[in-house]
Amino acid sequence: MRLILVGPPGAGKGTQATNIIEKYGIPHISTGNILRDHIRRKTPLGEIADGYISKGQLVPDDLVLALVTERLKLDDCKHGFLLDGFPRTVVQAEALDQYLHELGCQINSLVNIVVPDDVLVHRISERRTCLDCNASFHLLYKQPKKPGFCDLCGGELIQRSDDNEKAVSKRLEVFHHNTAPVIEFYRKQGLALDVDGTQTIDKVTTSIEVALNRVVE
Ligand code: ADP
Ligand code: ADP
Ligand code: ZN
Repeated sequence: MRLILVGPPGAGKGTQATNIIEKYGIPHISTGNILRDHIRRKTPLGEIADGYISKGQLVPDDLVLALVTERLKLDDCKHGFLLDGFPRTVVQAEALDQYLHELGCQINSLVNIVVPDDVLVHRISERRTCLDCNASFHLLYKQPKKPGFCDLCGGELIQRSDDNEKAVSKRLEVFHHNTAPVIEFYRKQGLALDVDGTQTIDKVTTSIEVALNRVVE
């Protein structure tokens, strides 16, 4: 199964990705996580990406595309993958479609988690992210069992440096301007599935499952 998970910042992509990858036995490819890993390791790509991410801007298409196509070449992607946070521009979507076309395959579906901006701001301001495994928690809606530490790996929970008011408002603007057209790009191909992301975490999981059960591989 070749899937895209899309939605504005804070929609619940990372939270929902876990269930989807388990259900289909596919790898989770989050461009945000990969870029943050480069920043942590202080690689040349990380230094460039940091300048954009900290301001809430998109990292240039060519850099992200190089990163994703390298990742998709790995063996674990042979039978599918879940792309989380990619493609975020129509240029990225067209390049992805072209890349898959050359391999003789295509995206099966795009899951679009729909959440209005005012809800997102509240989610992001109380989000805490694991420094080691990127799992996300929420001080109200998904509290870690031990405050300050990750339930999954015990790593330290931090507030992402781009989860501040200024960067969040820029990210929302970028979503509406650059990423909403990506959803329409796949909708025209009949591949977009909208899910109400304002429900509880478990209900969103069920809605995604129900929607994906209709998708043929
Ligand atoms: P969010 O939780 O806000 O959806 P992500 O972790 O997916 O955020 O991405 C964080 C940041 O990483 C983005 O604001 C952007 O700067 C950069 N980024 C992630 N994916 C992409 C992409 N596909 N294209 C360009 N920039 C990206
Ligand atoms: P994204 O990857 O789309 O940026 P996350 O999965 O990190 O979003 O979720 C953003 C924040 O909202 C996190 O703190 C998460 O625990 C919380 N969250 C996710 N889904 C829901 C939901 N359905 N209801 C309430 N809070 C949620
Ligand atoms: Zn962790």
